[in-house]
Amino acid sequence: MVSMSTLPLESASPAHICPFDQACSYLEAAAKELKLDQGTLEILSHPRKVVTVSIPVKLDDGEVRVLAGHRVQHSDILGPYKGGIRYHPAVTLREVSALAMLMTWKCALLGIPYGGAKGGIAIDPKRYSVGELERITRRYTSELIKDIGPSVDIPAPDMGTSAREMAWMMDTYSVNVGHAVPGVVTGKPISVGGSRGREMATGRGTMIIVREALADRGKSLIGVRVAIQGFGNVGSAAAELLYQEGAKVIAVSTGAGGVFAADGLDIPALKAYAASNRKSVVGFPQGTPISNADLLTLPCDVLIPAALENQITEANADQVQAQIIAEAANGPVTLEANLSLEARGVTVLPDILANAGGVVVSYLEWVQGLSYLFWDEERVNREMEHLMVQAYHQVIKQSQVRQIPLRLAAYTLGVGRVAQALSDRGLYP
Ligand code: NAD
Repeated sequence: MVSMSTLPLESASPAHICPFDQACSYLEAAAKELKLDQGTLEILSHPRKVVTVSIPVKLDDGEVRVLAGHRVQHSDILGPYKGGIRYHPAVTLREVSALAMLMTWKCALLGIPYGGAKGGIAIDPKRYSVGELERITRRYTSELIKDIGPSVDIPAPDMGTSAREMAWMMDTYSVNVGHAVPGVVTGKPISVGGSRGREMATGRGTMIIVREALADRGKSLIGVRVAIQGFGNVGSAAAELLYQEGAKVIAVSTGAGGVFAADGLDIPALKAYAASNRKSVVGFPQGTPISNADLLTLPCDVLIPAALENQITEANADQVQAQIIAEAANGPVTLEANLSLEARGVTVLPDILANAGGVVVSYLEWVQGLSYLFWDEERVNREMEHLMVQAYHQVIKQSQVRQIPLRLAAYTLGVGRVAQALSDRGLYP
C-alpha cells in the first residue's frame, strides 16, 4: 500500500485545486455523517495499489519518447477493480487517484459488484498519429499485464480514449496470455464482445437523471433549456438524447470553444459538423460563438458540465444561472462552489450518480461476455435505466431522511456499502 503523502503534489487542474484532496474531503464528510471509525476511514482514504510504468514509444519520425502511464487501484472490497483510461495533458497521479476513489463509491452506489480504479497517460491524443497511439496503448497495456484481467481490474474508455483503444488493449492482453480474453476491458467494439448501447450509455444515464430530477419538480424535458460543456463521448450523447426527448440544447462547447443558439441547436447537424471538423463545434454555421466560460453562466434551466473537473469554482459559482447542474464529468463542481450553489437552492446532481450510466453498461457488457449471451440494445437500455432510476430514488430518499445535500447523500450510500463490506470481510490477517 502506498501512502498518498508520497504522491507527487503537482496538480494541473484548471483552478489549481488538488482533485485528490477534494475527493478525500468528500470521503471524510461521508465518514463523519456515517460515524465511521478512524481505522475504516484510513483504509478507505488510501488506494490499495498505485502503479506507474514507463512507456517507451517510437514516434513516426523515428524519435523515441518515454511517457509515464498510471493505474491506481483504489479498492476491490466489492469486486474487481473497474475504471477508465484517460489520455489528456492534465493527467497527474493525484488526479488518477481521485478518479479511482470516485469509481469505488460510484460502483457501490449503483449496486454493481466492482471496486474502483483509474488509469491515465499525460498526453494530448490529438498530437499523435493513429499508429503512435496504438503503440502507446499496446505498450501501456503490456506493462500493466500482471495488474489487469477480467477478474482483477477491467479498464474502460474515459477522456481521450474510446472503443478503438479498448480493442487494442484487449488484443494486447489476449496475445500476451495466449488466448482471447474479451472480458479484460469494457467499452469494446461490438465485433469483439462489446455491448450494444455502451457508446451512448454515460450520456443516456445523465439524461435519465436529469429527467427524474425534473419530474420531481413536476416538469418534463420538453422545452427545457440545456447548456452542455464538452461535446465528446458523454456530452454529445447527452445532447443527442436530450434533443430527442424535446429539450432545447442552447449551447455546447469543446476545448476550442462553443456554439450558442437561443432557440436550440440542431444536434444531429452539429454532430455531423463536429465529425467532419476534428471533433470541434467552432464555426458551426447555425449558431453564434460562445466561450467555455460564458457557456457556464448562460441563462438556462439545466447545465451539464461534460468535460473536465473544477469548471465551476468559487470564482464563477455565483454567476451560474441554471437551477439544475448535472455532473456528467467527474468533479466539475468544486467543494466550495457546491456549498454556494446549495445555499442558493441550485440542485447539483452529483457525478457518482449523474455519470454512472457508462459503468452500469460496462457491467452489463461484462455480464453478457461472461454468460456468452448478448442482448439487444432495448434490453441493455432497460436494465441500465432500472439501475439508474433506482439509485436516483435511493439518493433522494437518503437526502430527505438524513437532511443532507444530494452529493453527501450519494457518498454516504456508496461509502457506507463499501464500509459495511469491509467490516463483514474483516481485516486480513
Ligand atoms: P471525450 O474525450 O470524449 O470528450 C471530452 C470533451 O471535453 C471534448 O469535447 C473536448 O473538446 C472537451 N474539452 C476538453 N478540454 C476542455 C476544456 N478545457 N474546456 C471545455 N471543454 C473541453 O471524453 P468523455 O469520455 O466524453 O469524458 C468527459 C467527462 O466525462 C470526463 O470527466 C470523464 O471522466 C467523464 N466520464 C466519462 C465516461 C465515459 O463513459 N466516457 C463515464 C463517466 C464519466
